[in-house]
Amino acid sequence: PGSIPGEQKPRILLMGLRRSGKSSIQKVVFHKMSPNETLFLESTNKIIKDDISNSSFVQFQIWDFPGQIDFFEPTFDSDMIFGGCGALVFVIDAQDDYMEALNKLHLTVTKAFKVNQNIKFEVFIHKVDGLSDDYKMETQRDIHQRANENLGDSGYDQIHLSFHLTSIYDHSIFEAFSKVVQKLIPQLPTLENLLNILISNSAIEKAFLFDVVSKIYIATDSSPVDMQSYELCCDMIDVVIDMSCIYGLHEDAEGTAFDNQSSSLIKLNNGTILYLREVNKFLALVCILREDNFDRQGVIDYNFLCFRDAIQQVFELRNKSQSFLSQPNHR
Ligand code: GDP
Repeated sequence: PGSIPGEQKPRILLMGLRRSGKSSIQKVVFHKMSPNETLFLESTNKIIKDDISNSSFVQFQIWDFPGQIDFFEPTFDSDMIFGGCGALVFVIDAQDDYMEALNKLHLTVTKAFKVNQNIKFEVFIHKVDGLSDDYKMETQRDIHQRANENLGDSGYDQIHLSFHLTSIYDHSIFEAFSKVVQKLIPQLPTLENLLNILISNSAIEKAFLFDVVSKIYIATDSSPVDMQSYELCCDMIDVVIDMSCIYGLHEDAEGTAFDNQSSSLIKLNNGTILYLREVNKFLALVCILREDNFDRQGVIDYNFLCFRDAIQQVFELRNKSQSFLSQPNHR
């Protein structure tokens, strides 16, 4: 119950020139690798299907450009590749000369658009940890302008690109992925609404619905997100998972250390509480609230159970009515 069949999940394709940082992103976001370890990643030159579908809400596939992959080559099945894809993330190395990357970006989005007009195109201007703030903004403006000019010049004004500044050395990569994934969840308004109801009835300051494995938040209440709160909640998930892995696994148990009984409470020394409850196999709710308001934990827990029921209904509905994300759009 509450689980989501593989085909129904947001599908994301990660593309970009070699060495732009794709495998690093994948390892850091979905496999808990520490950013420094990515220095020793070997370059791959094939399509990688990363099978995280058993552990994550998100489906995710990487696609490299080893030298030249020719889109017009007959063995390249663009219907298959772009057809079922919800978002195409194109990674550009901002520390490098990006002219070739811009050409590839253009070629890729126009090809993908012809196959599937529902794809969301997301450009990660990546490795910005090496750039000063001024230079970051300037780079983003330049890439934005050139990419859109290229599209305009060839008559593709209808293609919309979104841009994100990212780095694996801070939380920006998780934040960017969160935004990408949220666009692919048709029930997002409902989820946000449920979170709003939950926090206002429980005197919670901020609540995030997390994909536990990736620490992507798939929804939050409508109060503004500040990076610090998000980072705190991410850190909490790390702590909980680490503790569960060390102490929580039974000898014979295969599965994950995170299960439907998981919950955790952390009191910070500034009168704030972090409270985590599991929602289903993939998702957890992490809340930030004032210690004084936690007196009424019974109310909060009761409200949480109502919230969890509602979430389950939302995703069951989703399973019944076929989501457009799951339907390859062949033209
Ligand atoms: P791929 O060929 O696109 O899969 O690229 P890799 O993931 O192999 O990354 C190439 C190099 O870029 C590696 O040495 C990474 O450590 C480095 N890298 C990846 N992401 C970042 C980042 O956000 N900042 C910095 N400074 N380096 C990065």
